[in-house]
This record gives sequence, C-alpha cells and structure tokens, in this order.
Amino acid sequence: MVSWPPWRADRVTCIACGTSLPRADAREYDKHGDRWDRGEKEFEHLCKPCDRELSRCPRDGVEDLLCELGDGLDQAEFCARYMAAVGDRRRELEGHGRRE
Ligand SMILES: [Zn+2]
Repeated sequence: MVSWPPWRADRVTCIACGTSLPRADAREYDKHGDRWDRGEKEFEHLCKPCDRELSRCPRDGVEDLLCELGDGLDQAEFCARYMAAVGDRRRELEGHGRRE
C-alpha cells in the first residue's frame, strides 16, 4: 500500500523530548534561528508542546557563541563567559530597543 501524500509517512523525533511524531505535526526547529531561510538546510524537529515552551528571545548567533566559548573550558568557566557574553548582548539589544 502506498501512503499519500508521502510526507505523511515521514516520522520525525522531537529533539527536546524524544517523542516520535509525523513530520506534518512537528514544528521545524532551525538551530540558526531562521527557519524561513531554507537554503540547503536540514531542519530538526520539535513536537508542538515543546515548541510552545521555546524561548522567543532573540538568539542571533547564539549557537556560534556557544561554539566560540566552548573550546577547552570547564563548565564553570564556560558558564561565566556565556553569562558575560549574553549580558553584553542583552544590554546592546535593550539599548537599541529603547525609545526615549
Ligand atoms: Zn517534544
């Protein structure tokens, strides 16, 4: 038996909770934070409950930041640097967003 449309048969796994669900019911998660730029990307998937719990905070470059910070640091140092870097970014964002 052929299932149609073909994507109905695709199952994906939620990267947050591990639930297997039909691709059609999943939300695409783009680790680059821009799921509208499809390019040649492969998307990961989230189930809807996990997608709802996602932070919608700006996260431009956060994965890059994690990679940058992550080399050879122990966990405490990594966290300290991460918090410092994120704090800088937040201050920048708040600075830009404020209207006086
Ligand atoms: Zn999930």
